[in-house]
Amino acid sequence: MSDDAGLQALREAARLSPDNLPLRRHLAGQLLAGGYLADAEAEFRAALALAPRDAELTAGLAEAFIRQSAHGAALAALEPLLDTPGHPPLLGVLAARALLGEGDQAQAARRYQQAVSRDPSVSDAELAARLAPAPPPPPPQAPPASPHAAPPSTGPSTGPSAGPAPAYHTPSPGPADRATAEVEHSKVRFADVAGMEAVKEALRVKLLLPLQQPEMFAAFGKRAGGGVLLYGPPGAGKTHLARAAAGELGASFVNVGLADILDMYIGSSERNLRATFDLARRNRPCVLFFDEVDALAARRSDMRQAHTRQLVNQFLAELDGVDEHANEGVLVLAATNAPWYVDPAFRRPGRFDQPVLVPPPDAAARAAILRILCRDKPLAEMDYDAVARVADHFVGADLKGLVDRAVEAKLQQSIRAGRPIPLSTPDLLAAAQTIRPTAVHEWMATARNYVMHANDSGAWDELLPWVKGKR
Ligand code: ADP
Repeated sequence: MSDDAGLQALREAARLSPDNLPLRRHLAGQLLAGGYLADAEAEFRAALALAPRDAELTAGLAEAFIRQSAHGAALAALEPLLDTPGHPPLLGVLAARALLGEGDQAQAARRYQQAVSRDPSVSDAELAARLAPAPPPPPPQAPPASPHAAPPSTGPSTGPSAGPAPAYHTPSPGPADRATAEVEHSKVRFADVAGMEAVKEALRVKLLLPLQQPEMFAAFGKRAGGGVLLYGPPGAGKTHLARAAAGELGASFVNVGLADILDMYIGSSERNLRATFDLARRNRPCVLFFDEVDALAARRSDMRQAHTRQLVNQFLAELDGVDEHANEGVLVLAATNAPWYVDPAFRRPGRFDQPVLVPPPDAAARAAILRILCRDKPLAEMDYDAVARVADHFVGADLKGLVDRAVEAKLQQSIRAGRPIPLSTPDLLAAAQTIRPTAVHEWMATARNYVMHANDSGAWDELLPWVKGKR
């Protein structure tokens, strides 16, 4: 029987038993293997209607899309699962292929690296070659790591007065010390973060005041330390804000990214996590920042594997500290795009008890972000408000991309002209047309579901005015 005849028989069988999932799965796979991409797509969709969120079927559908150059559709199919902690790493590789197809090499490389670091067997030499050379990291916002503690801030009045000399017990590095994160000394200040006054105020109270006025906190029996959970759509400025909090405090900054966290999953995770906290303790005062913490702190009930549960318990133990002085001078900030996945145990008093929303910027905030991003460039007279109006639904990261693109074009123009030509409003307006903004709408739709249907504890009340469209 030829392949086609075989396929024909399978199609016929599927037509007769439309609810037979294994059969439909097999047919979809065969169609994909045979290069019948549109048919494969339809068949994967039909199978997914029987088994929504099935990872293998989603991967098949995404592959069918990618091979038809429908990269956006592939990403849309993958996204719900990619947001799920512990998703199969193969989905990350497919997302990397789709992102590369969309021209987003940096994100593609990041996704690929994350996937392969979780499971080296999903590596794809051809894709890796297309992703090389690795894109440069984002421009440094801090001087290179220094082993010395940061000097007290000489910055704005919100900076700490020369705080008490730390009389902490400082853990010394041992052979088990395998923290992969590095220590930065951030020059970014709250003044470099546009808008978000309420968020900055919340961080001041939570992070800065205990260090600035320890006697007052001691008098009321409040322990310094604990953590703050920043949540909001991707690219809205959570990392930027955390870095600014460290700068404002004159504290070191240790940024633990998703890749470090995932390494912890596969390595001797508890030891790595302890090493990361110890790194922060050796560099106090220190802001220890966990990005995409939902990957680490997913609800323990959602985790089937004992070792991931253990990792969460370890994280909570480190956060609580072995004694009341263990984390003095260590401020733990965590960021997540998906706060509803974070284990409620993280939100107990003394831990991340006050989730703080980092909202998408409104028009005035967008204009302020643009002003900050352009401030050290040669400029013509700028109408940031006009650009902010056009860049509706852009978050900070999108605006940064917009400015980077306009600057690149201007640089080339200046090189051709042999003189610097100042950046102008039309340059920014033109760049805005070329940027595809982050899917804030989709994020809001998900947020709305959680706020409306799973907000028993009132933890997400801050989101209410946003999801109801009043902001
Ligand atoms: P998130 O951590 O929420 O995904 P980031 O902090 O990485 O977002 O934001 C990406 C970039 O966007 C930052 O490096 C910064 O340059 C810019 N940005 C975001 N929000 C602001 C803001 N409020 N003010 C100035 N720049 C911002």
